[in-house]
Amino acid sequence: MSLPREVDVLVAGFGAAGASAALAAREAGGSVAVVEKTSAGGGNCVHSGGFLLEVDGPRAVDHLDALCFGKTDRAVLEAFADGLADVAGFLASLGGATAPVDLTAFGGMLPSWPHFPGAGHVRYRQFAPADGERPGIGLWRVLEAAVRDRGVPVALDCPVRDLVLERGRVAGAIVESEGDPVRIGVRRGVVLASGGFEADADLRDTYLPLPLVSVGHPGNTGDTIRLAQAAGASLWHMSAFFGWLSFVHRDYPAAFTLDVHAPGFIYVDGDGRRFADETGWEVHDRVRALTAYLPRRLNRPRLPGWIIFDEAARQAGPLHGIVGSPNGYDWSPDNSAEVAAGWIKRGESPAELAAAIGLDPPALEATLAAYGQAVSLGRDEEFGRAAHTLAPLMPPLYAIAMWPGVATASGGPRRDARARVLDRDGQPVPGLFAAGAAGSIWGHLTEHGGGLTDAIVFGRLAGAEAAGA
Ligand SMILES: Cc1cc2nc3c(=O)[nH]c(=O)nc-3n(C[C@H](O)[C@H](O)[C@H](O)COP(=O)(O)OP(=O)(O)OC[C@H]3O[C@@H](n4cnc5c(N)ncnc54)[C@H](O)[C@@H]3O)c2cc1C
Repeated sequence: MSLPREVDVLVAGFGAAGASAALAAREAGGSVAVVEKTSAGGGNCVHSGGFLLEVDGPRAVDHLDALCFGKTDRAVLEAFADGLADVAGFLASLGGATAPVDLTAFGGMLPSWPHFPGAGHVRYRQFAPADGERPGIGLWRVLEAAVRDRGVPVALDCPVRDLVLERGRVAGAIVESEGDPVRIGVRRGVVLASGGFEADADLRDTYLPLPLVSVGHPGNTGDTIRLAQAAGASLWHMSAFFGWLSFVHRDYPAAFTLDVHAPGFIYVDGDGRRFADETGWEVHDRVRALTAYLPRRLNRPRLPGWIIFDEAARQAGPLHGIVGSPNGYDWSPDNSAEVAAGWIKRGESPAELAAAIGLDPPALEATLAAYGQAVSLGRDEEFGRAAHTLAPLMPPLYAIAMWPGVATASGGPRRDARARVLDRDGQPVPGLFAAGAAGSIWGHLTEHGGGLTDAIVFGRLAGAEAAGA
């Protein structure tokens, strides 16, 4: 596609936020174009579980505020809560179906934050794809088709390299196309829908706890932050993130998320010691167990850690697959292919397993003996793991290496309730808007379904505001 020389609204990034922004700008009557850095649209939507958040009731904003630890303006959270009510209807208007999530099917994993105010009004939906597709892929197909059906031009492999500033206003962008810079003028505004910085090792090391690896889309290398800062934007939420425990393989660009589907497992660190209540962390926050410094245990967990699990857990379902990865790899349903490939190690005894993964055999034996004692007592005095999750670990045993993986780094430009990017004085940067993971609203913890809904709600707001600006 040849790039337009001038549009009303230019959207940088073609994920859920960019698609939602483009649709809203087009609906508002503006001419709009989308430029995407990588060779395909979808961003993290295609790797996602397609979960969507709903929260209402008088304490909805208190709930969101508690998760953000007060770091997000209440007006922004109010706008988000208002927009949530319309997400399922918006997707239905594009031909996409969603279904309520049955909380009982998630083995106690949901609701995510039951102790926070207003949690009784939190519900989740999941995109309901046709033909057994992964929900995140199905959701993306609907968004992408809607953008294309409305004739919005989308240019792939065209990263925004710079914003053009004229008299303090964003008047355009320099977009790279086949190696050449192309200037696109904007009459109304640029929407930054260009994701987070989790795939950039420097920015991870600068802002997030050490050492994280990235899960998900590889295009999110922090361009949003560099572009926004050059335009004078204030940044927020730079230390906030969510992720998964992850398996790293050098042949694949992103780490594989890991989840165990039966209670017969523990986590140990590189010294063979348990370091956390394995079942006590919210699913997106569990990764912090591996990055936390524990003075009581004299150090932080040494990495890589290991998930040690039994035969029942091996057969209970694929360790990778609840959510996707850009790796194009089909994890086997019973993990047998990964055992055969040597990604998962097996031992007929704790000592044999320890030797296979390079741990000190007496250290791992002592850890398993202490855990076995907790199982017999029905009480985990060391980490307080709930009694009903204490399952005995009988050989043969398996182990897979795990690293803390970041799926979304929240940090980026501060936005207001109208998706306008704010400068250091709290004033809108004229002509600049942001949505989704490009400076996410999540100030510390993230609700299940909170990433896609941030992208859709603020994408729609940003597109409409930009077109009408
Ligand atoms: C494995 C995984 C599972 C998840 N599951 C869920 C879930 O079930 N529910 C949920 O709510 N959230 C989930 N999330 C989070 C959710 O997917 C994201 O929050 C959401 O997709 C963000 O959408 P976005 O459009 O804001 O950004 P992204 O999807 O990150 O898209 C940003 C796009 O911008 C492009 N880009 C970057 N720089 C530039 C540039 N300079 N110029 C042009 N384009 C650029 C990128 O290539 C990318 O395509 C999950 C995330 C991961 C990684």
